[in-house]
Amino acid sequence: MALTIGVDVGGTKIAAGVVDENGEILARTRVPTPADPQWAVDAIAQSVRELKEQHPEVAAVGVGAPGFVDRDRSTVIFAPNIAWENEPLKVRVEELTGLTTVVENDANCAAWAEYRFGAAAAHEDTVLITVGTGIGGGIVLDGRLHRGRFGVAGEIGHLNMVPDGLLCGCGGKGCWEQYGSGRALRRYGREKAAADPIAGKRMLELNDGVAETIRGIHITEAAAEGDPLALECYTELADWLGRGMADLAALFDPAVFVLGGGVSDSGELLLDPVRAAFEQYVTGGVHRPRAEVVLATMGSAAGIAGAADLARI
Ligand SMILES: [Zn+2]
Repeated sequence: MALTIGVDVGGTKIAAGVVDENGEILARTRVPTPADPQWAVDAIAQSVRELKEQHPEVAAVGVGAPGFVDRDRSTVIFAPNIAWENEPLKVRVEELTGLTTVVENDANCAAWAEYRFGAAAAHEDTVLITVGTGIGGGIVLDGRLHRGRFGVAGEIGHLNMVPDGLLCGCGGKGCWEQYGSGRALRRYGREKAAADPIAGKRMLELNDGVAETIRGIHITEAAAEGDPLALECYTELADWLGRGMADLAALFDPAVFVLGGGVSDSGELLLDPVRAAFEQYVTGGVHRPRAEVVLATMGSAAGIAGAADLARI
């Protein structure tokens, strides 16, 4: 099975590619995600057919979907951004393309890609944490994706970190992603700049003086220049990430934590304080062997490469 197709289904776009066994993407397509959930299925199938025309030898399809996917890798139980509910995606794509298809959660695909081809290569116990608008994750244990009994393991963004804390999109309160995500970073910047406009001068300058609409890029730019208040925003974000990672280390004892997602593009600005916070909170003190903390290396190719590789096994 030399070549397979990976499809990364996002809320706004469907990206697909033909992938070889080394994770290299040989051809790509990209279309906007249709608003209608059934049209979204058609758009996936159309992308697959286009790629198959270019590489007729492709043997199978992996689809990464943003939501709960059942353990059989066939049905999307629930995908809030695409309005799929108990959508038999495997069967539908197979009918429309004639190719054997598996469906997997998108964050699981990304974790698998980092384990197979990226930052966690050769580490059979890996936790991927995607720090984007929210927090997503995927867990590889003993070289296998950890799906859980119902296929929905690895929803680490909804670990309850703060009793009766901030309301989360999932309906819960105090979820990790309300404190350790890109959205949280933005909130720290807005709150800190509004509370102390003198210390927040640089972040405010970058947003025409308005605290309420400061965005992540302003905080990152100011922090990269060494602005103390912007760096404090990163420290606060990292502190929450380190707390959650300490819990995950207590549970899974990974060799490596891989930080991905949009916020990880800020590189050392995120990585250094996260390493320090993890070190501070990890249980077991000096007696506990430490997991490495590294940045993801697969970037936007992770979803496609991971889905395609999971179609082989
Ligand atoms: Zn939540």
